[in-house]
Amino acid sequence: MNLDVARGALKQYFGYDSFRPMQEEIIEAILNGEDAVVLMPTGGGKSICYQIPAIIRPGMCVVVSPLIALMKDQVEGLKANGIAAAYLNSSQTYEEQAALTEQILLSEIKLLYVSPEKMVSEDFTNILRSVKLNLIAIDEAHCISVWGHDFRPEYHQLKYIRRLFPDIAVVALTATADKLTRKDMVEQLMLNQPRWFVASFDRPNLSLTVQPGQNRLGTIIDFIVERPGQSGIVYCLSKRSTEEIAEKLQRAGIPAAFYHAGMTAKARARTQEDFINDVVPIICATVAFGMGIDKSNVRWVIHYNLPKNIESYYQEIGRAGRDGLPSDTLLFYSFSDVIQQRKFIEEGGQQEIRLAKLERMEEFAQAQICRRRILLNYFGEHVFQNCGNCDICTDPPRWVDGTVPVQKALSAIARMKESAGMQMVIDVLRGSQRKEIIEKEYQLIKTYGAGSDMTVAEWQQCLLQMLQLGLIEIAYDQGHVLKLTPASREVLFEGRKISLARFEPKSKTAKTEKVTPRELAYDHGLFEHLRELRYELALESAVAPYIIFSDATLRDMAAKIPVSEPAMRRISGIGDIKYERYGTIFMKAIRAYADSHSLKPQPQAAQAPIPFSSAKTPRESTYDITYALYQQGLTAAEIAEKRNLGLSTVFSHISYLVAQKRDIDVSPYISEQEVEKVKAAIKAVGSSHLLKTLFDHLGGQIEYSKIRLAIALLEGK
Ligand code: ADP
Ligand code: ZN
Repeated sequence: MNLDVARGALKQYFGYDSFRPMQEEIIEAILNGEDAVVLMPTGGGKSICYQIPAIIRPGMCVVVSPLIALMKDQVEGLKANGIAAAYLNSSQTYEEQAALTEQILLSEIKLLYVSPEKMVSEDFTNILRSVKLNLIAIDEAHCISVWGHDFRPEYHQLKYIRRLFPDIAVVALTATADKLTRKDMVEQLMLNQPRWFVASFDRPNLSLTVQPGQNRLGTIIDFIVERPGQSGIVYCLSKRSTEEIAEKLQRAGIPAAFYHAGMTAKARARTQEDFINDVVPIICATVAFGMGIDKSNVRWVIHYNLPKNIESYYQEIGRAGRDGLPSDTLLFYSFSDVIQQRKFIEEGGQQEIRLAKLERMEEFAQAQICRRRILLNYFGEHVFQNCGNCDICTDPPRWVDGTVPVQKALSAIARMKESAGMQMVIDVLRGSQRKEIIEKEYQLIKTYGAGSDMTVAEWQQCLLQMLQLGLIEIAYDQGHVLKLTPASREVLFEGRKISLARFEPKSKTAKTEKVTPRELAYDHGLFEHLRELRYELALESAVAPYIIFSDATLRDMAAKIPVSEPAMRRISGIGDIKYERYGTIFMKAIRAYADSHSLKPQPQAAQAPIPFSSAKTPRESTYDITYALYQQGLTAAEIAEKRNLGLSTVFSHISYLVAQKRDIDVSPYISEQEVEKVKAAIKAVGSSHLLKTLFDHLGGQIEYSKIRLAIALLEGK
């Protein structure tokens, strides 16, 4: 088995032209039957590494995965590419499990996703022994270690795998693992001299920006308005603030929802589903949100509050841009957040280490050097080049002489006998007349009002920088009052000069004006148009839009404007099945759009044999073909067979045709009683767009294809 076969499968099934560098080496090792450990960041493309060997070799690959949601997502994605994948877990009925077991025994499944407890259960290992296994993949393998941040007791039992299947190669994959966890992983899984593959943890497509925590809401609204239609997450510290911010965004006309652990399981599931399906593009959430979500087209992540450490921050921003497209992250940094985080730490254990981690987080937020270098260095990757995609690189701080304001502040702090907090110092400098100042007679000190030429925000910036420069300290144990340091005395008494970064806010739109080098030019209007088409198709077939095509694939179309089969097949992400299912309908949409907007296909695409004009007879759509066969008297199953499509795809065609009011007798496929049940469910759920919710509401008793058909019937009426 050589790599050419692997490359062929990559194009045929996934529609990609080439492997990413490390993928090829990993696949080679796996094909050689070696055990392997794969450490790659989120979005790095780990899955392909075991999926391709599983597909091209005889037999089946078992994938152990910790979360049902993740399994489902992977399986849907694979099926959408025409790969025989399935999952087996406790959420399924006995009948479903039995039917699947049958398929496994008939060698009809290439990739089987299972929970860790299933993997080591006796029933299941017996089944596995009677089929040909070609690989065992352990996803999220760090969950096996108590040293990792995500230990799962169920993973512990995976240490028996080696004994149960001594001859099958095992590949362990994870996106997070410190040294201790890595060692533990290999030992517990009893990997046999595994090959190590450690990719860079850099995510160059994520821009990094930090802003002072003033006027956060206004900044967020501007940020979102600059990115119409994009999907994003606003992470907040408290449940209450998720609700408040979502409401304020809604009032500004922005479609946002909130998510936190205080909601009912049902409400949470629904919110998550709406987000995944692009029904609600923006979620304000606590950090509980995002685990187990594979949505590849999250375009931005905002931290309303400072995260507790760099690990969490990196994991949370990592939920943006899994598809590799440019995505933006924005962190607000305020002193009150630091105090809040310190309070949390004081309430719990392991204070020393948690405080140290918080301090590293603060240093990152305050940094005046390339932020990506700080992050990568934190994770042990030493980088000597500036990234060009963080706020420091794109808008470097400008230094000004800050000696005078620093002197004023230090003198005020000294004259208040180092017993005032930051807000009080600012108020005194600006000459506020609030009651507490008068009571304490601070209006009598020499520097009272000496800083009225600067705004509160500018003073906050100034004091923050003084803190970073060690010119002042905060006495956390004395009500957070500001204290002088030896360095402050040098400024006050020895005439030391101080440079400060200018206090003005970063130019807000620096990010969007700039086109990152990786971003290719594409027609934005066409991209939006195709996104809408994708959304409609997703509703029709009850899958998440990104399962149909990733944003990256749509952008490639919007750049190359493919209107012929060869051109369409060259688009990244279009494998055989995707072409078969969606090629024609997308080409039709592209052709129509291009005609009405005078767009020309890219030169390479123009070599295509089919003339570029919608005036020519439009190609038959996949629906038309199904309809023609139906009119010839074929049943759904026969059409599926003839067209080499899944039965559910044919049902989705029939639903579409019914919704288009074409003449179709649906009585063989759905009973009136079932239609009534779906009708009642739609009423109870309040929407006909939430297929999964409807499915669950109906107790799983009516298949998706029937629900879709019923909806089409009801809406067609
Ligand atoms: P991970 O599991 O490491 O988070 P995924 O396997 O989900 O990453 O891959 C991330 C994205 O990159 C997916 O959209 C995937 O289809 C895409 N991808 C993976 N390998 C390639 C490749 N060789 N060429 C183009 N895109 C790829
Ligand atoms: Zn940088």
